[in-house]
Amino acid sequence: MLFFLFNFPSCESEPRMTARILDGIKIRDQIFAELKDEISILTSGGIRPGLAAVLVGEDPASQLYVKSKIAACEQLGMSSGLITPPSTVSTLDMLSIVEDLNRDNDVDGILIQLPLPKQVDTKRVLEAVDPAKDVDGFHPVNLGRLVSGRPGLVACTPAGCMEILRRADIPIEGANAVVLGRSDIVGKPMALLLMHANATVTICHSKTKDLPDVVRRADIIVAAMGKAGYVEAPWIKPGAAVIDVGTNRVTDAAEAERLFKNFPARLEKFRAKGNALVGDVHPDAVNTAGALTPVPGGVGPMTITMLMSNTVKAARLRRATSKQSAAPSATSVR
Ligand code: NAP
Repeated sequence: MLFFLFNFPSCESEPRMTARILDGIKIRDQIFAELKDEISILTSGGIRPGLAAVLVGEDPASQLYVKSKIAACEQLGMSSGLITPPSTVSTLDMLSIVEDLNRDNDVDGILIQLPLPKQVDTKRVLEAVDPAKDVDGFHPVNLGRLVSGRPGLVACTPAGCMEILRRADIPIEGANAVVLGRSDIVGKPMALLLMHANATVTICHSKTKDLPDVVRRADIIVAAMGKAGYVEAPWIKPGAAVIDVGTNRVTDAAEAERLFKNFPARLEKFRAKGNALVGDVHPDAVNTAGALTPVPGGVGPMTITMLMSNTVKAARLRRATSKQSAAPSATSVR
């Protein structure tokens, strides 16, 4: 009995937890420490990696995202710049901003904060970014490289999910992996990364039949649907690794009751704040999964981390390549 209490000190109010919690903040700190070393080596060789962010308009959520990306640059000793066109900006204005950044040798990474205003052709703007500076990994050239398994810049969120799996020593090779969601920025690149790591991958979407049955076969589940607590605990094979990409703001009291009925402390917090952040996986999954990313604190911190990592990688590939100016490197993203 004493042993039980010692191991599960919070079990008075919460159910016994079985899943290993995959802590994205700890992994971010590890990667930041590694990046700091790499940045100081690059800087001593005359290359200070730099990120330029383009933030259109005054959307508070976008402002907050960009602010945290710039703060991360500062924390790591990278340079950063912010361009803030008004919300009336045209596609041509945006293309001209991107062209200037493409030409600027001090800029290694270009971040176009989305969404852009309706009058701007987002695809055209994203495709104008030099693929070698496309640290979001959205450019068709980088997507094509990912499809064919060649080195390039990979979208930050799926790249972060892979880092979590690898650093937590979750076996990927030969595993049955199920990816829930097929968006260009999460689901599709995630499925490709898992396939290249030799998992057997199933991609699910809103038209998938018998979703619970498909999920039950998975050793690795990546949920990226944008549906709060949609993946029920009984769908999860006991011991499976669950990567929960979903970030859903729940404000409905009945919904919070459904999600937190076994988590009185979270329910209390919801009642006090009037909202809570929840993943796509029901919190009860913690009693079925073998390993699980929490929301918040799992995949979320990894997205900015991989943006920083991509910027350093872009600096290394682009500037080291241009310094050598010899035959094109096999790892160049150009
Ligand atoms: P998205 O573009 O809206 O795509 C959602 C995907 O989920 C679609 O492919 C959709 O299928 C599928 N889906 C929806 N309902 C489904 C259902 N009932 N069964 C099976 N599949 C279903 O979303 P996203 O941009 O990929 O983002 C997904 C979630 O991840 C969101 O909560 C988002 O906020 C979060 N996110 C988090 C981070 C982070 O840093 N933590 C980063 C990016 C995204 P169809 O294709 O058939 O419509």
